[in-house]
This record gives sequence, C-alpha cells and structure tokens, in this order.
Amino acid sequence: MTIFGQKPIIAIRTIVQWCFLFWIVGIGVRFGLFVYSLEIGAAAPLVSRPPGVEGFLPIGALVSLKYMLFSGTVHPVHPAALIIFLSILLMSMLAKKSFCSWICPVGTLSEVASKLGKSLFGRNFKIWRWPDFFLRGIKYLLLVFFIKLILLDMPGEALGGFLDAPYWAASDIKMLHFFTRMSVTTMVVLAMLTLLSLLFKNFWCRYLCPYGALLGLASLVSPFKIRRNASNCTGCQRCSAACPATIAVHASTTVSTPECTGCLTCVAHCPGKNVLAMQPVFWRRPLPVWIYPSVVVSLFLAGIGVGMVSGHWSSSLSYEDYRRLLSLVPYLSH
Ligand code: SF4
Ligand code: SF4
Repeated sequence: MTIFGQKPIIAIRTIVQWCFLFWIVGIGVRFGLFVYSLEIGAAAPLVSRPPGVEGFLPIGALVSLKYMLFSGTVHPVHPAALIIFLSILLMSMLAKKSFCSWICPVGTLSEVASKLGKSLFGRNFKIWRWPDFFLRGIKYLLLVFFIKLILLDMPGEALGGFLDAPYWAASDIKMLHFFTRMSVTTMVVLAMLTLLSLLFKNFWCRYLCPYGALLGLASLVSPFKIRRNASNCTGCQRCSAACPATIAVHASTTVSTPECTGCLTCVAHCPGKNVLAMQPVFWRRPLPVWIYPSVVVSLFLAGIGVGMVSGHWSSSLSYEDYRRLLSLVPYLSH
C-alpha cells in the first residue's frame, strides 16, 4: 500500500516534516513582521512576537542551561530558547535523534536538496569510507568546542552578564538579519553548502551540525532503537542500502549508533513482516507503525507545553525594550 506514491511510514514522516516546516516558516514571517513594526517606528507591533523564534538560538540556550544549573532559575530574556533546547534533548534521550529527521527544518530542506540532486545528477554521491569517517568527526569537534567554551570555560559569574546584556537580548533580531540582510560571505557559504547537499545526502547533518552531534550522543540512552529479528531476516540488505546514514542495519540486531535519526526508512524498505521495527528495548511484541511518530511529536509538543504552562515561554522584554534594542543592533554585530 502506498500514500501519495510513498510507503505509509515515509508518507507519515513527510507530512510531519512539512507541517513543522510550514509552522517554522510561519514563525519566521511573524517575527519578521514584528521587527518590521520596530523598523517603521510603529507605536504598537503589527503582530505579537512569536517566542518560538528562539528555537534558532541554540548556543545561547546552552548558556541559559548552565545559568539554570547554577542559579536554579530560568533566565527570563529568552526562556523559550532553553525550553525548546531541553525538549529536543529529552526527545533524543527517549526517542533517538528523531528531531533531525522529523522536525528540524534544516534536515527537511537537506532531504529536499538530496532528492533534487538525485534527479539532476542521476544519483547522490558517496564519500569514500575513510574520508567519510574523518569528516563525520567534524561535528563532534565543533560540539567539543562549544561545550568547552560555554559549559567548561565560562565562569558562573559571567553567565548572568551575558544573558542580561543587549547582545543576547537582540540575538533574535540579529539572527533574522542574518537571513534577510545576507553578507556576501554568508551567501557564498550557503551556496557551497547547498551544492554539497545536492551532491551528498544530508551533507550538513552528517558532517557539520554540532547540534545533531549532541542529540546523537544523547540518543545513546534512548530505549527506542531499530531492532532486527534475525531469525526472520533474509539478509537482502535493502535496509542498509536505503539508510540515509549508511548504517549496516542488516548486520545489527539493535542499531545503537548515534548516527541513527529514527527516520524509519530502513523499516519502510524491509520486505519482511515484523523483521525490522523501531521499538523500546524492553518491548518484545510488534508495535503499530504510528506509535513512534506519535511519541516523537508528543514529546516535542509536551516539552513546549510545560514551558508555556510554567510561565517560561514568553520573553520578559517589552515592545518598548525592543525599540531601544533596535538602535543598538548595528553595534552588536560581532
Ligand atoms: S538505521 Fe533506519 S532509522 Fe536509523 S537512520 Fe538508518 S534508515 Fe533511519
Ligand atoms: S531489509 Fe529486512 S530482510 Fe532485508 S536484510 Fe534488512 S532486516 Fe533483513
């Protein structure tokens, strides 16, 4: 059976990915209108500021996390950044690196690019095994860099100073300008990444994303894992051939690697019945296919819901504060 010409699991994932992509684009447009209100000097914003825009501030969220661990409180300037960061971390610890293949807009666009590349060039290229192995290490090196810089080296007293400063307060506006007022360097880098994503599947996610590296390491403790029933497996290797992360699924009884994003492509391509499944390690019987996507989406939305209900979602900054900040933005670029 197919849905929109795709296998049901793949179709479900595609629908979830595009729903989140449209939602995130909507947040971006809304925030753009909010900043436009500031720029034209409107007495009141045309639309309210969407706190979800802080999902694009993961490095500040890491500082915010350390601040929370030190002080026991959530810093009020961009609390949604921390809530989204913690929700995604929790998702990874419970349901693999599912954020990357179900929700992340960069992951979705990266998949679109690789499909486009396949139709343009007839195939996606593969980097040889050893260079691929070393290149995959880059994202872990970047992660180590940020963890050392923020979690280890940044003194506790400096955390409040960073989070109270105009630089952090205006970081959402600067991030918007990053996209709307692109420098030539940014354009060149994005063009190169797009080209590499056309040629190689998930180039950014596989080699360069430190966020994905962190989520992959967190996913090692996830009870959900791809499990293969070796006694019913024919060894056809269609799972491994289809896996976008090039994992040798056919050779494992449990896929534990941090590279697995829980995309379920291997499950969709397995011709056997009840041979491959994404399920908790403690669960022996087959689970309906919709359980895992439901868990993934529920965890993400529940994390955000807890942030909203507990009063750690909307920024403490008022429209007036943002008006003052806007004039400082040109001086806060570096
Ligand atoms: S092992 Fe399966 S679920 Fe994991 S990345 Fe590969 S195809 Fe996706
Ligand atoms: S696709 Fe299914 S049957 Fe084929 S090797 Fe993988 S798990 Fe075994």
